[in-house]
Amino acid sequence: MAIRHVAIGRGNLPYTIIWHFYNSGKYSVRSGYRVLCNMVDLDDRDDSMEHKQTLWELWNSDVPRVFHYIIPVLSNLQRRGMEVNPRCPRCEKEDETVDHALIECEKTEQVRKMVHECYVKSKQEEVAADQMRFGDLNWADIVLVMSWAIWGARNKKVHDSIEFSASETTAFVISYIMEFQRCKKRMQPKQTQVAAQWSAPDPNVIKINFDGVYDNVAKTGSFGVIARDYRGLVIGAYAGRLDFVPDAYTAECKAALKAIIWARDMGFSRIMLEGDALTVIKKVNSGEYDFSPLGVYIAELKEARNWF
Ligand SMILES: [Zn+2]
Repeated sequence: MAIRHVAIGRGNLPYTIIWHFYNSGKYSVRSGYRVLCNMVDLDDRDDSMEHKQTLWELWNSDVPRVFHYIIPVLSNLQRRGMEVNPRCPRCEKEDETVDHALIECEKTEQVRKMVHECYVKSKQEEVAADQMRFGDLNWADIVLVMSWAIWGARNKKVHDSIEFSASETTAFVISYIMEFQRCKKRMQPKQTQVAAQWSAPDPNVIKINFDGVYDNVAKTGSFGVIARDYRGLVIGAYAGRLDFVPDAYTAECKAALKAIIWARDMGFSRIMLEGDALTVIKKVNSGEYDFSPLGVYIAELKEARNWF
């Protein structure tokens, strides 16, 4: 099924590896980060209640027994025969067990108190809209991030002799959660309504408006094309069905190709092509080769511009 949705170009385009999650077809850390955030969202959406319940139970059970022997806290390393001092390297008051490192240590306790204070304020909406808001995260989610940050700070102390204060670790946890919230916000589709108005072309130019739509279930689409002169009079119109359309961008590309081929067949010598898919228009006007799955359509559209 997937291979039917891969566009095969008519020209001799070279084989290329593309990052299909992103529009440009090129990988960047930023795009990878967004894809990961999206995957987290998807997981959350599938079974969010179950997911959150599990986290809650995980923490309430004081971390399941199996982790008590896996996490390389110093008392575990000593049990495995390594010659280490099992004392907690942060407070130096008790042996470092998993319970001690992640729950009981006074350094952990300080971080937990500060983060919890921010969490309560966030829930009570005592903070400004863009500051310290934890969004819809519950305490169990935050506890996991906090445990990871506490463990990271502990490792810095053990391996690099760098000590982070409780406030610094708290600041790290909060900034991480804020970043996660910002990322989630950016992933939400923006809905902006722009009132479109048709403007006339120059007297010797035919303006061709096109649009493509697609059916997400059937993976098919349709297109419509209309040609007008400078007075706004309709010179011709054309509509039809599109096969193998995996997404809206492909529908727009295929509609643009239908429009431009039709314009040539109609004998128009000077045309202006207008569509509402900014991404497709930008790609066609770009001087670079497009590495996205739309690349073959874009290449054909660029070639078709030479007909006029
Ligand atoms: Zn300690």
